[in-house]
Amino acid sequence: MDGAAASSATIASDRGPVSESSKAEIISYEPATGAEIWRGPVCEIDDVVSRARRAWPGWAAQPLSTRMELARRFANEVRKDADKLATSIAREVGKPLWEANAEVEQVINKVEVSIRAYAERTSQRKLDSALQGTMAVRHKPHGVLVVLGPYNYPAHLPNAHIVPALIAGNVVIFKPSEKAPASGEILARCFNRAGISAAVMQFAPGGPTEGQALISHDGVDGVLFTGSANTGIAINRRLATRPDKMVALEMGGNNAMVMWDTPKLTDAAALIVQSAFATTGQRCTAARRLIVKNSMYDAVISEVKALADRVIFGAPFDEPAPFMGPVIDNAAADGLSESFLYLMSNGGKAIKHLVRPDESLPFLSPAIIDTTAMKDRPDVELFGPILQVIRVEDFDEAIAETNNTRFGLAASLIGGTPQEYNKFWANARAGLVNWNRATVNPSHAAPMGGIGLSGNHRPTGYYAADYCAYPVASGEMEQPRAMIGVGLK
Ligand code: NAD
Repeated sequence: MDGAAASSATIASDRGPVSESSKAEIISYEPATGAEIWRGPVCEIDDVVSRARRAWPGWAAQPLSTRMELARRFANEVRKDADKLATSIAREVGKPLWEANAEVEQVINKVEVSIRAYAERTSQRKLDSALQGTMAVRHKPHGVLVVLGPYNYPAHLPNAHIVPALIAGNVVIFKPSEKAPASGEILARCFNRAGISAAVMQFAPGGPTEGQALISHDGVDGVLFTGSANTGIAINRRLATRPDKMVALEMGGNNAMVMWDTPKLTDAAALIVQSAFATTGQRCTAARRLIVKNSMYDAVISEVKALADRVIFGAPFDEPAPFMGPVIDNAAADGLSESFLYLMSNGGKAIKHLVRPDESLPFLSPAIIDTTAMKDRPDVELFGPILQVIRVEDFDEAIAETNNTRFGLAASLIGGTPQEYNKFWANARAGLVNWNRATVNPSHAAPMGGIGLSGNHRPTGYYAADYCAYPVASGEMEQPRAMIGVGLK
């Protein structure tokens, strides 16, 4: 299976009926039931962009303190609508309600983090010198930014671009994932109710076609994208002749977790199960590959399998609460099932099968497969609950296997000595490198991004401030004062 084929089999771009977006309408369906939950027309691109362009000068001219205050009011509006937003997220993308509630908390917390980050990363600086006057460094907003959201965190991840972009003085056109417009709309209305107008923060529903048209539009100054590597590459290609546009790409991963010596197998298993199966494996930071020291293999795998066997997968509002919900749609479930079969028929040995109890719905069990014997393991992001296990003999081999990917988002070492962690940290090629921590749940008080196919060196999280404004260096003196000292007749 080559990379492109594997990606298209596993990263579904449309649920069957959602392809109706080409007929200028988006319909969103609940994965757990198949019920329709939202329907609306796609946005009119020229109207959206010209409204944004008209709004930008006024917004950029607001004092920073006003923009910060409005961001705080937005957080309050989200608090008021917390249940509605969490319910929508749970219904629309299928994540358990407890997890949707946690996503709403992240949306709220992003505001204070972004205010701190703006001040720290893009504040004004002045260097005085008697003869040269003042050298000032200040930052300016880019203008009109398009935010393209993914479906797996339909509120928190677009919001992680939107809030810093607005604080910096940009106006935002927010195109949510075509698989999660209902949650995107609730988020957008919270901004508008807070006093950030629907021209400054516009909700612009659409699918890939509208995404392409928006990013290519001459009235757009930049694109802040979170989604798959395939789409990120398509965006880069489309904008190859537009170096004037700011492009920040947060993409996927084929993340590794290395399991080394530790007596704490129960904790290790919990970290592994959390990393591989939280959000039904639909996290950019999810562990896809577990690299295990051969001598630990039997003990670790039996502990991980026992815990994975206990994982409840079910509908978002089930009682008792499930650990994970369905994947986003039937196309994604089909692709993942095909990928699991591909691994099995090419040398993989199933440790725990991928089970789909009802072929008409996208519920999948956690699955574990030993792919050590496979000659060419596909280096693709299997965006679902499939964990591949690879045995290795020594630590150098574990590091080589960690880096045996074109992606470079997250890597984690479980167990090992401080010296081994130092070696792992120094050699693992990823933007997030952890020790005895899950690969998932990165802190948004820290930069969040990857290398290789995982991003274009513009991390989000705390460093989102960096791509939302550009630095302007200014040599300044109150009066002209100059003379030419050499070379004159
Ligand atoms: P996707 O790439 O299919 O879609 C993301 C967005 O891009 C959507 O709004 C979509 O409509 C739009 N789009 C699609 N094709 C486009 C094109 N040619 N031009 C412009 N816009 C286009 O991603 P998804 O399936 O919604 O999300 C899952 C992916 O996102 C996974 O690969 C996951 O790893 C990644 N992700 C990355 C991060 C991160 O921070 N690095 C976080 C979450 C998810």
